Amino acid sequence: MRVSVFGATGSIGESTFDLLSRRNDIRTVALTGGRNVARLAEQAKALHAELAVTAYDDCYPALKAALAGSGIEVAAGTEALVAAAERPCDWMMSAIVGAAGLAPGFRALAQGATLALANKESLVTAGPLLMREAAQHGARILPVDSEHSAVFQALVGEDIAQVERVIITASGGPFRDWSRERLEKATLAQAMKHPNWDMGQRITIDSASLFNKALELIETREYFGFDPAQIEAVVHPQSIIHALVGFRDGALMAHLGPPDMRHAIGYALNWPRRDDLPVARLDLARIGSLSFEAPDPDRFPALRLAREVMELRGHAGTAFNAAKEVALDAFIAGQIGFLDMAALVERTIDSLLSDSGLTDPVTALETIAAMDQMARERARALAMEMV
Ligand code: NDP
Repeated sequence: MRVSVFGATGSIGESTFDLLSRRNDIRTVALTGGRNVARLAEQAKALHAELAVTAYDDCYPALKAALAGSGIEVAAGTEALVAAAERPCDWMMSAIVGAAGLAPGFRALAQGATLALANKESLVTAGPLLMREAAQHGARILPVDSEHSAVFQALVGEDIAQVERVIITASGGPFRDWSRERLEKATLAQAMKHPNWDMGQRITIDSASLFNKALELIETREYFGFDPAQIEAVVHPQSIIHALVGFRDGALMAHLGPPDMRHAIGYALNWPRRDDLPVARLDLARIGSLSFEAPDPDRFPALRLAREVMELRGHAGTAFNAAKEVALDAFIAGQIGFLDMAALVERTIDSLLSDSGLTDPVTALETIAAMDQMARERARALAMEMV
């Protein structure tokens, strides 16, 4: 099987690398990264990749030097990323963080490759187009987000029309018990302390604010086509159950596993078979008990915003994700507070409602790109007012 990994140097990328390193039936076509060129070069050598690409032009000399004499091709820049996604492959991991992951995924689908989709922003931003592209080219998208992989697995052999509801779980993050007053002063370092999962910086902070869960609610609608009213989120601090699917006879099918992304990645890699994976087995007696609680919309407004976005449809997902990325950048830079992130996203959506075509149906990548840019500009302007 020919594979490519986009975002190979990140958290999902490293877990994918780990699984690929254990296989001897894989041919690695392209590996891509951002600024961590030393690691990208190591991975490319270890997997005997044909091509290594950094997203940044200024990183080209360092990557070229690190791969000198290896026979591995080197390229840099966003166009090179897209060209790498056009190289024939059978399976592509989409694990770039943020909206930058969108274009390579489209190219992989256009060549009929299976797209293992960790980049949830792709579905939130361009869900209808992505699903249409896959259908047009007979390509398959396999979810890698643990909740969506869990739903996907719970649906095997089932009639999706008999599904009553889907429940995705949220750990609640490091601030689950914090008051609003404390949340207002929450720092970057505190937001980075996820209780269960070891992930990249951006998704870790999004988990603390529940923006990650908000993206996942939208992702669930876009991928499976459920009505927003059928999709729920519940806080489950142990992160053992990843999602549950409820059927019209009242049965709830839960997917359980340790918090290790190699399960969902490995499932997408081996699909439609199941194969051995190097993940810990759950010791239920040792875990003892599992608990659940309703998310608090007052302290974590992101879920309410996600519902509004799902109702608005059109380009609202694009604007939501773009505004969220700007808000996150501003929080990481210390310009706005933790709770300001949700306020900024809400204000951006509100300000776009009147004049921007926010709710026009999504028909082309160009209109998505335009909305993405408009929302970022609007969010940056509003962020300046909040600083
Ligand atoms: P990381 O931040 O750990 O890694 C991101 C990867 O993308 C790195 O390879 C990085 O390169 C590269 N990258 C960053 N910016 C750009 C850019 N502008 N253009 C091209 N490449 C870029 O992220 P995660 O692995 O945590 O997450 C990746 C995606 O998977 C996200 O969409 C996230 O929401 C999703 N996801 C992650 C989970 C997790 O457990 N981590 C779980 C479920 C979904 P470099 O580091 O070299 O600069």
